[in-house]
Amino acid sequence: MIVSDKPPDDVQFRSVPVDPNKRGIKQKLSMVQSFAVALASRNFGNKKINTPIKQLRVLSCFGNQDQGGILPPCEHLIDSDVGEGKNYCGACGCGDKKTTWLVQEADEYSKLDYPKLACPLQMPGFTNYVVSTPDEAEEPVTRKYYIENVDYKEIRKVPVKIGEQPAPPPKEEIKTNS
Ligand code: SF4
Repeated sequence: MIVSDKPPDDVQFRSVPVDPNKRGIKQKLSMVQSFAVALASRNFGNKKINTPIKQLRVLSCFGNQDQGGILPPCEHLIDSDVGEGKNYCGACGCGDKKTTWLVQEADEYSKLDYPKLACPLQMPGFTNYVVSTPDEAEEPVTRKYYIENVDYKEIRKVPVKIGEQPAPPPKEEIKTNS
């Protein structure tokens, strides 16, 4: 078989957009993406989360409109019927109770303070975080894409307080018949 140097006239090649995001090739992760990927890959082996992780989680769930930003709360964030001013995740399926409330700032330990915590939307700050897909960069962008590309200074402004984990109940003393 003779292979010609020139392609035949009838062969068509598909053109691709110049923007690498639209071709499914990301040249470089954004700072927030790299940070969130690194956190997720560590699988939160720590006993306690730290402030940057909670700030990312709070941004993912609550947005930043209450601090003058443009990011609305997650569509799955629901106001509690039983806890005044409390919210829970409607996509997790774990209901509206004290142990499932998502609390931004409180002394009490809340769901967002758990070192290992999954989000149904795999948002930044959670253990199961997955980087946004290229189509999420198309207007209107998704909340995940927005968070991944926000200036890191904005994340550091998110007010959070990490609740103290309650001490485990004391073990019953073992009684011996001496
Ligand atoms: S889906 Fe994720 S980001 Fe949304 S409220 Fe639930 S845990 Fe938060």
